[in-house]
Amino acid sequence: MSTRPGGPAGGGPGAGAVGRFPGMLGLMADLTPTVLAERVAALRLVDHHVHPALQTDIGAAEFEDLITESDRAAPAGLTQFDSQLGLAIRRWCAPVLGLEPFAEPADYLARRSSLGGVEVARRLLRVSGISHFLIDTGLVRPGLLDLAGMQDLAGARASEVVRLESVAEQAAWSGDGSAAGFAGRFAAALSGQAAGAAGLKSIVAYRYGLDFDPEPPTAAEVAGAAGRWLRQADQTGQIRLEDPVLLRHLLWAGLEHGLPLQLHTGFGDPDVDLRRCDPLLLRGFLRRAEPRQVPIMLLHCYPYHRGAGYLAQAYPHVYLDVGLAINYTGARAAAVLAESLELAPFGKVLFSSDAWGPPELHYLGALLWRRATARVLGDWVAEGEWSQADALRVAEMIGGGNARRVYRLD
Ligand SMILES: [Zn+2]
Repeated sequence: MSTRPGGPAGGGPGAGAVGRFPGMLGLMADLTPTVLAERVAALRLVDHHVHPALQTDIGAAEFEDLITESDRAAPAGLTQFDSQLGLAIRRWCAPVLGLEPFAEPADYLARRSSLGGVEVARRLLRVSGISHFLIDTGLVRPGLLDLAGMQDLAGARASEVVRLESVAEQAAWSGDGSAAGFAGRFAAALSGQAAGAAGLKSIVAYRYGLDFDPEPPTAAEVAGAAGRWLRQADQTGQIRLEDPVLLRHLLWAGLEHGLPLQLHTGFGDPDVDLRRCDPLLLRGFLRRAEPRQVPIMLLHCYPYHRGAGYLAQAYPHVYLDVGLAINYTGARAAAVLAESLELAPFGKVLFSSDAWGPPELHYLGALLWRRATARVLGDWVAEGEWSQADALRVAEMIGGGNARRVYRLD
């Protein structure tokens, strides 16, 4: 955990504060920035958007594939360890596996395989201090823990977030497989899965872009689009849902359930056209959905997190996180986090790791968030802009309180 709560301006923030604001010495004596960092380090976090961790042993090449959002192999002679995330793994995960900080990648990977996938996951999940995972189960690969496995290894709660496109793809060929019956089959399947879920999720950003027509499609439009989709699926054997009419239908049908609706925005793998993932493109949809009073959770947002902060301020039902970006910006995470706290009301910002696969990502998502939060809020306290008590209160809100309220977890 962070032992250096000081800001990038250099010098101890406590000393700076006393120097600039001598009258504050007494006020700050019992709650120094170090105390803030320690309290943030001890917070029991709710990870409101995350995926399962891998419990299987993975080789060096596979590990490198999983610590980048690229789906391409690194160019010859380069390693994914030479990145903010790679450095963070060597700095912070190595000691959890019993190595010195900054262990060489080869030593790190050798230690990983000698411990085995289950033990690596157990250690990293436990030390993350995440008490509740809201898990998007829509992205599958062999070796991922299921919800019960995540609970057991992490010693935490796990709830499911249901991915709308996955439900639709499963419902496509179920029953009589007719185009006219698709909407009904999807509705029935979604009702079943939503019943036990904490939230819903859409990847319309991946499958089309956020510049979709914000109006709900008519029943006739849905049936027509389902017919085209199912015919194409029959011909190709591929059931990937990319039709914008159907993707819109999923969103509007999802809102009927009243569960928080997570939307991928911003940064992701090269399957997204990042230019079309700016959450500001959602303005029309957000305005039309507003009377439903369903929380819309803008995920990741980077590099559009400042626009997302504007949306969170403008619209009562809009929330955001900068998960994923925290891990991938590593030592720069404090800058991203600070920008996410410019316009957004603090009750609208949530912690998430968006980890998927290597449990290093679950641990670092939490650790780097804690370090960035302690650093950013600690600086504002040191500069006399915030009180320590407010800094701690806001850290608790973002770390878990907001998620507990919005998802009704308690
Ligand atoms: Zn995700």
